[in-house]
Amino acid sequence: MRCFDAHSDIWADVTNKRMRGETNVFHNRHFENIRKGGVEGSVLVVWVDTLGKRDVETRTHDIFRCVKDEIAETKDFRIVKTYDEMLKAREEGIFYIFIGVEGMAYASNDPSLARLDEYYDFGARHGILTWNEENGFGHSAASGSTEGLSSLGKRAVLHMIEKKMIVDTSHLNEAGFWDIARIMDGRPFIASHSNCRVFSDHPRNLTDDQLKAIKDANGCVGLNTWNEFVDPDRRKANVQRLADHCEHMIDVMGIDHVGCGFDFCDYIEDPDDSEGSDFSSGAVTGLEDPSKIPAFFDILRERGMREDELAKIAYGNFHRIIKDVLG
Ligand SMILES: [Zn+2]
Repeated sequence: MRCFDAHSDIWADVTNKRMRGETNVFHNRHFENIRKGGVEGSVLVVWVDTLGKRDVETRTHDIFRCVKDEIAETKDFRIVKTYDEMLKAREEGIFYIFIGVEGMAYASNDPSLARLDEYYDFGARHGILTWNEENGFGHSAASGSTEGLSSLGKRAVLHMIEKKMIVDTSHLNEAGFWDIARIMDGRPFIASHSNCRVFSDHPRNLTDDQLKAIKDANGCVGLNTWNEFVDPDRRKANVQRLADHCEHMIDVMGIDHVGCGFDFCDYIEDPDDSEGSDFSSGAVTGLEDPSKIPAFFDILRERGMREDELAKIAYGNFHRIIKDVLG
């Protein structure tokens, strides 16, 4: 089964390793596992660890520079910005990447929104307003805040709609989520890497009402492999439990709104980028890295899902969002 992974932080690894003098990081460190797992394309995000030691502006520009250098060097993938560009790369068998943004702290204190445009000009066609920080646009799920988006954050969402960028609610707190649902007013939006509160009552996960709001907007939710989001009891956080999340999403939203946003972190090892977190042991048992993805679809098959349903989860639903939003 071919698969589109709607959330990956590989650019962070590319940046860390290029800063230490490595080249062709995607090819040497990631491509084999990705191909083994059947991943045909992905959203790779510009992510800055805003809770770490690095200056946000410097780190953002380091990522821009390292990713540009990596792109100039590689023959393994192509950056795409539209549905048709994606289809062309897909037909040619070339791994396709949409650039995304995970946390806009860099842009969130700029009332002109020129820094948001800087992401777009860099190639980003997707964005999440916050990572785990609170910034000038809004409050993260991790913050515990019950406040919604700032007025600048609301303008940022409208600007993203105008620019035809995919609006992603993962990491936002619930009040921010509902602000976005209102602003989108029926236009599709996503939660690229969030699971169900019903199995793990973590603020990064979604309530059934939130799932329904995404369905009503014809959006999509990506299943996340991070163990805490799968089950609060790490011993139960395995690939079977992730399949439970998938089935629950289908029960609540139907088959057309579930996708993959696996958020693999097996390669994130730089202590400067993982303050207080043990990324290396973050993924669920049985789905620790992209090479194991086929086992996940085998479980869904065993539970009675048809091939056409699996194809929607594996890539079809997120492809529809790409077509609807990016054109
Ligand atoms: Zn994330």
